[in-house]
Amino acid sequence: MKPVNTLLGQTGTTIFTVMSALATRHGAINLGQGFPDTEGPADIVQAAAAALLDQRNQYPPLTGLPELKAAVAAANARFYGLDIDPVSGVCVTSGATEAITACLMALLNPGDEVVLIEPLYDTYLPVVRMLGAVARLVRLEPPGWALPRAALAAAFGPRTKLLLLNTPMNPTGKVFTREELAFIAGLLAAHDAYAVCDEVYEHLVFRSTRHIPLMTLPGMAARCLRIGSAGKTFSLTGWKVGYVSGPPALVELVGRAHQNLTFTTAPNLQRAVALGLAKPDAYFTTLADTLQARRDLLEAGLQRLGFGTLQAAGGYFITADITPLGMAADDAAFARMITEQAGVAAIPVSAFYAANPPSHYLRFAFCKQPAVLEEALQRLGTWLAARPAA
Ligand code: PMP
Ligand code: GLN
Repeated sequence: MKPVNTLLGQTGTTIFTVMSALATRHGAINLGQGFPDTEGPADIVQAAAAALLDQRNQYPPLTGLPELKAAVAAANARFYGLDIDPVSGVCVTSGATEAITACLMALLNPGDEVVLIEPLYDTYLPVVRMLGAVARLVRLEPPGWALPRAALAAAFGPRTKLLLLNTPMNPTGKVFTREELAFIAGLLAAHDAYAVCDEVYEHLVFRSTRHIPLMTLPGMAARCLRIGSAGKTFSLTGWKVGYVSGPPALVELVGRAHQNLTFTTAPNLQRAVALGLAKPDAYFTTLADTLQARRDLLEAGLQRLGFGTLQAAGGYFITADITPLGMAADDAAFARMITEQAGVAAIPVSAFYAANPPSHYLRFAFCKQPAVLEEALQRLGTWLAARPAA
C-alpha cells in the first residue's frame, strides 16, 4: 500500500486526549484537559434546547447566522471599542480550533514563514506544517515568560507572513502587556505581516490584569484576525462555536477556508451563543472572579504541598514546578505517576514545545468546583506523604 500522509503519520494523539484517557482509566480527578466541571449558564443551554424545536435546523448561512455575527460585532465594540462589520467582518466556525486552521489557510502559501511562540498550543505547529509553511519558533522562558524582544525581532524576516499570538496564553496563563503588544505591532508593521490572534480566554482574566487585543493597537485592525470561543466564554467547551473577527478582505478568505472544512456550525448553538454575548457586564466579571478564586485555591494548595507555582493572570491553568519536591521524574513521568498513583491528572508542559522542552513543569486546570480542587489537593498530599524519600 502507498504511504499515507507523512505529517499526519508522524502526529501522535493530542496530550489532552492521552491524559484524559489515563485519568478515566485510573479514576483520577482530571486537572489535565481544560474544561469546567459544571454546566454553563442555564438560560443559554435552555435557549439552545428551545432552538432545536422551532424548525430552523437546516444549514445556516456559510459564515454564520446574522444574529450571532451581529452579537460578535457588538461584543467587539462593547469590550474593546473595535469597529467590526457585522456582515462581512465576522465568520462563525466550529470552535476556535477550526478558526485557527481556517485563518492559517486564509493567509499562508507554501514556503511562507510563521512566527510561533513557545510554549505553544497543540494544533499550531501541525497545521502550519500541513500547509507547507515554515515555523520560526521563539521561546518564552519561565518563570516570568517575558517576551524576548531580540529573539522575536530576529525571527522576523522578508518571508514572514504572520505571527500566531495567544493571549491570554495557554499553558502559561500569561496575559501580554500593552508594551509587549506594541513591540509586536512594530514588527508586524515593519515586515508587512499579519497576526492570527487566538484570544479564546479573553474573558478569563483576573483582577489587576486587563486583556488587550492586538487588534486595538494603532494600525493593527487591518492586519489581525481575532479568534474567540463560546466554549470558554460560556463554560460550554463541547459546543465548539468559535468566531473570527477582522477586516472583510481577510475574513472573506477565512470563509473560503471554512466552506471546505465544515461549511457551517449547528444553528441552535449559534442562536444561543448570540444571546450569551449580549449578557450584561456582570456575567463576564463574575465568570472571571469565580475562576480567580479557584486559581487562588489551587495555587495556595500546591504551594502548601511543596510545589513551586508560576503566576497565572488569565485562562484555565496554573504551571507548577516539581523541582522543589526533589523527585527524579521528569514532567511526563510525574504526570503519569500522579494520575495512576495519586488519582490526579495534569499535563506535562513539555508537550507544548517542538523540541528541547523544560522538563520540570506541570499544567494544572483550576476550572473545577472548589470541592473537587480540595479533593485533588488532598489526594496529592496523601501520595506525597507516602512516597519514599528522594
Ligand atoms: N486555543 C487555545 C489556546 C485553547 O486553549 C483552546 C482549547 N480550548 C482552543 C484554541 C480551542 O477552542 P475550541 O474548543 O473553541 O475549539
Ligand atoms: N484547550 C484544552 C486544553 O488546553 C483542550 C482542548 C482539546 O482537548 N483539544 O486543555
